[in-house]
Amino acid sequence: MTPAGSPSNGPAPQVTAYVALGANLGDAQAAVRQAMDALDRLPQCRVARRSSLYRTAPVARNASGPADGPDYINAVVALHTRLPALDLLDQLQALEQAAGRERSYPDAPRTLDLDLLLYGNARIDSARLTVPHPRMMQRAFVLLPLAEIAPERVSTAQLHAVAGQPITRLG
Ligand code: AMP
Repeated sequence: MTPAGSPSNGPAPQVTAYVALGANLGDAQAAVRQAMDALDRLPQCRVARRSSLYRTAPVARNASGPADGPDYINAVVALHTRLPALDLLDQLQALEQAAGRERSYPDAPRTLDLDLLLYGNARIDSARLTVPHPRMMQRAFVLLPLAEIAPERVSTAQLHAVAGQPITRLG
């Protein structure tokens, strides 16, 4: 057994990461389901839990008003991974690109959005990556699916804080 954190040539430690999925163009439910399957096929990754799909109206980044576009389909998965966090972000962004995402302006409708919510208990604050995701605690469409598959990662107070946001859990 290699002690945790010691340098070795052995496999990288397995981390449980949580990834939020969102889509609001085309067949958004199919896009989210296909993205869950694609996450499961990533190197050194395995989807361990999948939340239900949820439907929400689009919300602007600064939460001051509605954003453009049709309703969003959202979900969260637990991902067992041996990828370092930035490598995982690279993979998430490659999946977004493969899904044909185009960002013509902030909060534009998107084919697929993947956010890294949590990476184990790590706190990361780098140019490309902030974990825990800085806006996750303000969003019912993140907290409800996360609480469904990882109730220990979301407090009752945090759920209360987003209780006024309309959201529908789909079958
Ligand atoms: P968004 O448009 O919300 O998908 O944000 C994409 C940008 O956020 C990219 O430039 C990422 O490098 C950056 N980013 C910072 N932290 C995260 C995170 N935890 N998950 C996904 N993207 C992140």
